[in-house]
Amino acid sequence: RAKHGGKGRTEVFAPEMHAAIVDRLALEADLRRALAEPSRDQFAVRFQPIVRLTDGAVVGVEALVRWTHPVRGALSPATFIPIAETSGLIVPLGAWVLREACREGARWARSRPRGRGVPPLTLTVNLSGRQLQAPGLVEDVAAALAESGLDPASLVLEITETVIMQQTEANLVTLHALKALGIRLAIDDFGTGYSSLSYLQRFPIDILKIDKSFVDGLSRGGSDAALARTIIALGDTLALRCIAEGVEDDAQRTHLQALGCDYAQGFLFARPLPVAEIDALLVNGTALER
Ligand code: C2E
Ligand code: MG
Ligand code: MG
Ligand code: MG
Repeated sequence: RAKHGGKGRTEVFAPEMHAAIVDRLALEADLRRALAEPSRDQFAVRFQPIVRLTDGAVVGVEALVRWTHPVRGALSPATFIPIAETSGLIVPLGAWVLREACREGARWARSRPRGRGVPPLTLTVNLSGRQLQAPGLVEDVAAALAESGLDPASLVLEITETVIMQQTEANLVTLHALKALGIRLAIDDFGTGYSSLSYLQRFPIDILKIDKSFVDGLSRGGSDAALARTIIALGDTLALRCIAEGVEDDAQRTHLQALGCDYAQGFLFARPLPVAEIDALLVNGTALER
């Protein structure tokens, strides 16, 4: 369209770009409205099991938010999380996810049978950069723990590598304040961001989540497999727990175990599940059958 404009006129946006921007603004407005509803019933939290590879025991669950748009139906986090981040709406949305997840997590902790070989259940919640930088995060986390009665030792907050790298000093203060609550921290999508390793020692990290791209590359051998091996060795050296993400087949599982990776998550074991299905899964506290 810019070409057809009159002399001296400059149109910056092509019609498709304009449509995309309008669409994004509409979604942002819808998201804002959905979050303003006291019931928040357009949102749901799904929980994906994290398993111990040696015996298939469920050692944790990762909370993953879902949004059912009244007109567009189910939207992928890949669509709405970026909008929530740029608009700042991730702050109230993330606080809601955290509360919901802690509430369920505390219930699961109370109902989980105790005994030999039944590991305590870890609850994992994703944290975006905007949340980390927002004032009140530490208070929100403390409130979610206090309200639910969840043991802080069973809460893990996941932050992506790229986010941890930004605004180093301010982030460091916040991460230490979070750690002081007694929770643990994980680096999500590890290996895909900035790869200076020195920060691993400077930041109070407990867990590395090996990005799915390396898991996918395992069967091809080559550099992805080499990197997966290196990350697992690194975790070992620094006494960080490694969790492989996006494990989809048995060959990958076998390969990871051979490399000494003890924990994994992926469609091979379970998809993100609604609360009731996690309830059923945890009833006997036993291994997850594929
Ligand atoms: P993530 O935290 O790295 O979560 C893992 C994603 O991989 C999830 O996608 C999960 O459904 C998917 N996944 C797990 N196993 C497999 C597998 O075997 N194969 C494949 N192909 N995918 C697998 P999901 O739920 O669509 O979430 C995407 C991203 O959105 C998350 O990546 C996270 O960065 C973000 N997200 C989701 N929920 C929240 C939230 O409550 N807060 C924040 N800040 N971000 C969230
Ligand atoms: Mg995650
Ligand atoms: Mg991840
Ligand atoms: Mg990811």
